Amino acid sequence: MTRQRALILGIMREKCPEHLTADEIFSHARQAMPHIARGTVYRNLKLMELDGEIGHLEMPDGPDRYDANPTPHGHLLCDSCGDLADLPVVGLIRDIESAIGTEVRGYTLTIRYICPKCRAKNAQ
Ligand SMILES: [Zn+2]
Ligand SMILES: [Zn+2]
Repeated sequence: MTRQRALILGIMREKCPEHLTADEIFSHARQAMPHIARGTVYRNLKLMELDGEIGHLEMPDGPDRYDANPTPHGHLLCDSCGDLADLPVVGLIRDIESAIGTEVRGYTLTIRYICPKCRAKNAQ
């Protein structure tokens, strides 16, 4: 593993579950390694995704985000602040498997809601 790759992984695990964009990861990486190139960060993210070390999320509006957790899970997306939180859906996937009578091979599940922080702010 290269130093750059170890740095990126460290940023993502520390920042988890924030689901950072490639640009956000790049700006964190630059604080630790001022000479790191944007292309290096992007290339490493692609490789880490191919190796199954991290997940990659395509967002409906806005740049893609990267997920420190590579195992399948759903997400909660806040309509107000754009925060993305993990949502465990193991039971739901089992229900779907019994309904369709076969194994679910992969899924993308994003539930839109208003996050607890924004709800607290609105209640004030
Ligand atoms: Zn929010
Ligand atoms: Zn996630």
